Amino acid sequence: MKIYPWQKNSWTKVFSNTEKMPHAQIFYGSQTQEINKFVGELIKSILCAQPIKEHFSCNECQDCLWNETSHPDLKVVESSSDKDEKINSDILNIANVREIKKFLELSSHQANGKKIVVIYGAERLNIAASNALLKTIEEPPRNCLIILTVNNLANLLPTITSRSRLISFTKPSKEDAINYLKETNNMDLIDRLELYNNSPLQLIGEKEMLNDVNIILDELRKGYAVDLMKVNNIWLHNGLAWIINLLQKWSYEILLYKLSEEHNYFPRDIKLIHKLAFNADLSKLLTYQKSLNKIKFYAKTSVNKEINLNSVMIEYKNIFTN
Ligand SMILES: [Zn+2]
Repeated sequence: MKIYPWQKNSWTKVFSNTEKMPHAQIFYGSQTQEINKFVGELIKSILCAQPIKEHFSCNECQDCLWNETSHPDLKVVESSSDKDEKINSDILNIANVREIKKFLELSSHQANGKKIVVIYGAERLNIAASNALLKTIEEPPRNCLIILTVNNLANLLPTITSRSRLISFTKPSKEDAINYLKETNNMDLIDRLELYNNSPLQLIGEKEMLNDVNIILDELRKGYAVDLMKVNNIWLHNGLAWIINLLQKWSYEILLYKLSEEHNYFPRDIKLIHKLAFNADLSKLLTYQKSLNKIKFYAKTSVNKEINLNSVMIEYKNIFTN
């Protein structure tokens, strides 16, 4: 599988007119890894000397054998690790864009081939770099392709987006997600798909942690009767941020049911959520969301994880009247 099945429309769109492929293209959406994989395939396909059907790369020619970063007609723009810029070390500055310009002006290694520049995470471009890039996009060297990826289009200069072809990426539909689980022999995970926002990739990525999810949910389901003695450090082996995330989804589900009788992450626990919502104090439930947000913010720093876990579990217990 070279691209994910739910990316097929984007792939078709990119190749809708190969003769007149726009020289600047922006790939955007919140699924960074999925987009990066797509762009990786796209680059391989464009550099491939003898693409196979649907424009996919052949994986056999000399160009395909060069890996992505060493192909002489490809430049992946990285921030310079200038020691003086330690604070903003991930920013792309005007020097990076000058390198792009220089690279694109060299003749391509392949006869009549394209020279490709990729800027992953183009929100890292600072304003001077953005303006310089805009100039290159406005007056492009011959036969070049400039690819930008970004989570949110609003983080780019409107003058850049208006001169580029925009390819959006959406999440897989429920049907796509289920098909993907089937194809990858992961149907045993299907009961937890909603917990991972219907993203089969996230779900498969956390496969190893589902047993921990079940252990923790077994306690959370008890509401006021939660046994604080059972809260132990093993719960923390996926990290404090991970467990806070789970608590957020669970308590949000109770809140959602209390406010609107809807459900989102735990459809199979709906009867129990209904009961917990009935026994929950609304203002305590709202305060709990704030507490979790606050802890999540510093969960990755060197806070005392055990104390924080205990306090969020005590607060959880006290949401319920019985
Ligand atoms: Zn090839």
